[in-house]
Amino acid sequence: MFNSLFKIVYFIEFLIIVVVRKYYTAQNRKIELKVDKKFGIDNLFLGLNGVGMIIPLFYVFSTWLDFANYPLPDILGYIGALFFAAGIWLLYRSHDDLGKNWSPVIGIRTKQKLVTNGVYKHIRHPMYAAHMLWAIAQILMLHNWIAGYSFIIFLIPHYLIRVGKEEKTLVSEFGSVYQDYIKRTGRIIPKFNRLKK
Ligand code: SAH
Repeated sequence: MFNSLFKIVYFIEFLIIVVVRKYYTAQNRKIELKVDKKFGIDNLFLGLNGVGMIIPLFYVFSTWLDFANYPLPDILGYIGALFFAAGIWLLYRSHDDLGKNWSPVIGIRTKQKLVTNGVYKHIRHPMYAAHMLWAIAQILMLHNWIAGYSFIIFLIPHYLIRVGKEEKTLVSEFGSVYQDYIKRTGRIIPKFNRLKK
């Protein structure tokens, strides 16, 4: 019973996060990059992440994956729903703060500015953090070995191969300003500095 409740809530939250992403992707249809660090394995993982996001839909709307179900306490499902809501909020906030500086691949846009305000004040990669919250929510809400884990198994390696390259690209563009920014922020876990006089 609760498993099916979580499936419905999961699907609703999934629709909301997809709409948020699509809205900001539409705002950024024309992306001119002066530095383009596209790389094959990154593209491959972008695709695999997409598959990992779609598999839960088969779980929600069919019984095909039910053979891989396992029981989990309901409380974890509720916590998962909260994680997903936090991920939605964080994705929306980070897109809003990053604005025209966003691109789906690693690169530097023609008029790119370094954003260090809003959610970026405390965390350098809030969008990746938002995706992590989503992937964890998937595990907590969908009590199934395949549908629960299909996103996180691709997301973590993707994050690991991408984040260092992205920071290197930003250091080459913004130099010591980005290096100082690294010192006062967290990568995907926010760092709150004590107020300085
Ligand atoms: N890693 C960030 C942004 C992902 S989008 C996050 O998780 O929120 C990827 C693009 O964002 C990269 O091409 C990079 O050039 C740009 N970017 C990342 N951090 C930035 C920042 N603080 N200011 C401006 N652009 C940034």
